[in-house]
Amino acid sequence: MTMSFDHITLGQRVLFGVGQARKHVAGEVARRGAGRVMVIASPREHELAEGVCAQISVRVWFDDVVQHVPVGKAEAARAVAGEHGVDLIVSVGGGSTVGLAKAVALTTGIPIVAVPTTYAGSEATNVWGMTENRTKTTGVDDRVLPATVVYDATLTTSLPVDLSVASGLNSLAHCVDSLWAPRADPINQALALEGARALARALPGIVADPDDLQAREQALYGCYLAAVAFASAGSGLHHKICHVLGGTFDLPHAETHAIVLRYVLALNAPAVPELAGRLATALGSAMGSEHTAADALNRLYEALDAPRRLADYGLTERLIPEAVARVLEVAPPSNPIPVTRANLTTLLSDARTGVTPTAGLHIVR
Ligand code: NAD
Repeated sequence: MTMSFDHITLGQRVLFGVGQARKHVAGEVARRGAGRVMVIASPREHELAEGVCAQISVRVWFDDVVQHVPVGKAEAARAVAGEHGVDLIVSVGGGSTVGLAKAVALTTGIPIVAVPTTYAGSEATNVWGMTENRTKTTGVDDRVLPATVVYDATLTTSLPVDLSVASGLNSLAHCVDSLWAPRADPINQALALEGARALARALPGIVADPDDLQAREQALYGCYLAAVAFASAGSGLHHKICHVLGGTFDLPHAETHAIVLRYVLALNAPAVPELAGRLATALGSAMGSEHTAADALNRLYEALDAPRRLADYGLTERLIPEAVARVLEVAPPSNPIPVTRANLTTLLSDARTGVTPTAGLHIVR
């Protein structure tokens, strides 16, 4: 079969090194000749940020970080950056923190050095997101792509195991959704599958020993590949569902992604058997034997004691019709299985109660 596609590779410097974040950040500030640095980190991330920024001169610290970046918080951060003539942002934290840095970069063009402390992966995408009036808006703009990413596994050991698992599965969702997203191509699919392999191997290692730096670093490596694949392939059905659940009903980001992933895979896998087989190999090789992709994922969830019920995070039965209506407005036409009110209602109802998904179970045409 011949190939025909249009693939864009985003330009970004990526630095890996256990225990090297401080040195790498100082090097980036010097290399860019930045003199008025704004550090964004939430109060919970402040101690990590102080360590990471110990060798640089910081003009202003900003810590008013809220998940899904409410527009008002973005405006406040932009005003502070303007008052201080900021010429570089260093973000130290999870997806919410880099999300706020991106919101500032979107309107000011100030470059970002991102130092991730979760596996959300936002640092490797040119996607921004903001929330207003119960609606999350996302967009793509190269100005928000961090110029440099500094990965250091020591910064993630303080992430509690349950959050590490949810965040790692959020990352795995980037991989899986990239396989059939609107701009999926052989390059981003290859990145996605290698990311899935790395994450499926790393996460059980983190559960076994949260201080295992090799497992933590493998998770960061997988998370980076996942995010690059996602940025290239675009948002598939999984992401559209999670944006609605997070933006409209304020469900927590990582846990919501972790839960929804298995149901979207079960819906779509029968329509893309070749890709699902490659995903099963990526996931199954980590589990030591062969399974379908859906089975391999179910086993991984058991091994990780992963979050399984949206009901535990605030999705009541009463909210499902509104969620379905909102997702139907944005569901990608390219989804391997046509998305209908009926199959979406089944998917969300099952994800709410946590019934174990089986590939093919949810196909309602
Ligand atoms: P988060 O950034 O909200 O972090 C979750 C919690 O963990 C916070 O309380 C944070 O302070 C804490 N935390 C972070 N690192 C820690 C550490 N090392 N030790 C202890 N605590 C730590 O959650 P998240 O899942 O990383 O990010 C979610 C946000 O990122 C959402 O708003 C989502 O939309 C966005 N996101 C955007 C993209 C994109 O491409 N634009 C991709 C992924 C996620």
